[in-house]
Amino acid sequence: MTTYYFSVLLICTLVFGSIIGAYFTTAEYRIRFDKPLITKDCYCPECGHVLSGLHQIPVISWIALSGKCHYCGTKIPLRYPLIEFGFTCFYGITFLLFFTHPLFLCGLWIAAVIVLLFFRCSSHLRGTLKGIMIFTGYHLIYSAVFLIIYAALGLL
Ligand SMILES: [Zn+2]
Repeated sequence: MTTYYFSVLLICTLVFGSIIGAYFTTAEYRIRFDKPLITKDCYCPECGHVLSGLHQIPVISWIALSGKCHYCGTKIPLRYPLIEFGFTCFYGITFLLFFTHPLFLCGLWIAAVIVLLFFRCSSHLRGTLKGIMIFTGYHLIYSAVFLIIYAALGLL
């Protein structure tokens, strides 16, 4: 694999990891409060204002907004950007360690999400299972893209 492809895959993985981290915090909150897991818009749980795309960028938005809702000023807990950053790091590290084994890599990612979701929301089994199905869907799409790129590069 050339340095170019390696860099592109690593950056895509970091972005995907941060998005999964951001959705994880949303899904975990919604599962625990029995709210729908898929909605058209993301909103502030305090004031209900729909958030713009700029206010949903993992980690960066939290820093730019000084950890407060842009509309009502409610504090956004520090654990949100920390979880997003943690996912980004986990995805980056597993990629660096296992990028030559794409199936293993994809398996590790989804396993981590399943373990964390059960750890956080096991008392809401129905919502947790729904959440796991959604995360599995995201990972299947990403894994398919990964495998196509690997196949195109002749690495499979
Ligand atoms: Zn708000």
